[in-house]
Amino acid sequence: MASKYPQLVRPSVDASVVVVGNELLSGHTEDANGPFLAEQMRELGHRVRRITVVPDDEHEIVSALQDAKARAGLVFVCGGLGPTADDVTIDAVAAFLERPLHEPEPAREQIHRIYRKGHKRDLIDSPDVDDDAWRMARVPEGATVVRNDEGAAPGSVHTVADTRLYVLPGPPAELQSVVHHLRRRDLIPVEDAMTEIEVELDTFEAPVSSELDTLDRENPDVEIGSYPQHGERRVVVRLRGEPEAVEDAHEALNEALGDIVIDGA
Ligand code: ATP
Ligand code: MG
Repeated sequence: MASKYPQLVRPSVDASVVVVGNELLSGHTEDANGPFLAEQMRELGHRVRRITVVPDDEHEIVSALQDAKARAGLVFVCGGLGPTADDVTIDAVAAFLERPLHEPEPAREQIHRIYRKGHKRDLIDSPDVDDDAWRMARVPEGATVVRNDEGAAPGSVHTVADTRLYVLPGPPAELQSVVHHLRRRDLIPVEDAMTEIEVELDTFEAPVSSELDTLDRENPDVEIGSYPQHGERRVVVRLRGEPEAVEDAHEALNEALGDIVIDGA
């Protein structure tokens, strides 16, 4: 099926995600954004190396960003872009980038647009932007501002040396809207040379562990994951990497365990 997004092929890049929010650390809210971004990265051919959850604390966010930048070419930070004093992500991003904050026109227009939309839908009494809302128009200088159709805070993209940093709002519908616009505008690189093959085995995990170990050792360029299904006699094996290497590993798996393959031979 043809993709609705541009398909510019570039080298695969490692990604790292920083999720911000006290409510995630207290167990009040379950993180939806880390898994969503992980799925997006898989679809776009990149590997997520780490997802970190940190509190709404500027120093913690800066430290997580430094750590993420050291290990990934694509860094995502989400949450804490709102208008209240506990929303400090953009301040942390500015400190991390050592760039001053300003309110560029596209960010102000984003806020105007969402107020007009909210007023049209009778969600708010007036299309006039509340004074406190302008706080959400602040982005570090040099950023590309990205549209958010579901809320006021815009997304933004920043380049630091070889790393691209994406700043996204926390509410999942808002984050997904910004990611949609990032992809539409080709602001996230795409690598389509990764292949994933899934094979189901009629077994528990222990009886095939030595065969899977050998497969793993002999196919160092393929990420091999083995996932036993709780309460069932079934193991899902996933092979991921460059197409040729995955094909070789798949063949080796069929040779070693072909008699118990249920699906994916
Ligand atoms: P805003 O304050 O403008 O709504 P924000 O970017 O500051 O946006 P938060 O204040 O962090 O976002 O969160 C707003 C709402 O979105 C909260 O209800 C929060 O629980 C939810 N939310 C934030 N991050 C996540 C997440 N990672 N997974 C699921 N829900 C989230
Ligand atoms: Mg928050």
